[in-house]
Amino acid sequence: GIEAVVAISPEHVRLVQSSLRIYRNFQGLLDYSERDTLTGLLNRKTFDENLGKILMGLSASESNTTADAQTPPRRRQNEDGKHWLAVVDVDHFKRVNDQFGHLYGDEVLLLLARIMQQSFRHQDRLFRFGGEEFVIILRATSEDEVSVALERLRSSVEAYLFPQVGRVTVSVGYTGINSGDTIPDIVGRADDALYVAKESGRNQVSSYERLLASGKVSPREAPNSDIELF
Ligand code: GH3
Ligand code: MG
Ligand code: MG
Repeated sequence: GIEAVVAISPEHVRLVQSSLRIYRNFQGLLDYSERDTLTGLLNRKTFDENLGKILMGLSASESNTTADAQTPPRRRQNEDGKHWLAVVDVDHFKRVNDQFGHLYGDEVLLLLARIMQQSFRHQDRLFRFGGEEFVIILRATSEDEVSVALERLRSSVEAYLFPQVGRVTVSVGYTGINSGDTIPDIVGRADDALYVAKESGRNQVSSYERLLASGKVSPREAPNSDIELF
């Protein structure tokens, strides 16, 4: 034991220790840049990159419609369905902070992130978008499938007993991701739906497309429409 230790020079030990330290710091940096440090969910920067890639993929497959209409990858993509985006916002979160303090507020966010991870499939992407706002990007073949999944999240949160804080609820707005959309278009539509969920009493899930069909939201203005006119 002792002889083996002696055989390694102190310089070598220092070298190994410092490269391990560098490696750990590097890993830490990688993690910090992709994930939110409180919840471990993907962060805002990763969200922009992910959604950007999805949109590029959509426009690429649209421009190739005739060229490789029979390629298996795209067929598989169609079977998985389209992408959807949901914005989840904690209801009356200010009250949680005011009544119990910021630390309990943070714990609620951490536990919410866990409930979200348990509610969705591995391939669904979960982001902490801002303070008490989360975003989910998921794929589904029908709108019903999306609404069932989000409704399951909403009711799991409603049923969860948070330590000290007790009951907390969330409101959710969601929309389909279409070819030709920009990131602000998509987030804007989900936000419009979220706003309606908040206005109609919170603790509910609302769909931009369903609200649009029933005339409860008006269509968003086409992006850059004023610029294109002149
Ligand atoms: P609403 O139901 O309309 O969403 O009400 P709300 O109080 O949740 O909404 P509002 O956006 O006015 O307040 C959000 C609060 O979330 C404000 C801020 O104190 C708190 N918050 C934001 N980020 C964090 C965080 O990282 N930790 C904690 N503890 N609180 C946060
Ligand atoms: Mg908010
Ligand atoms: Mg809120």
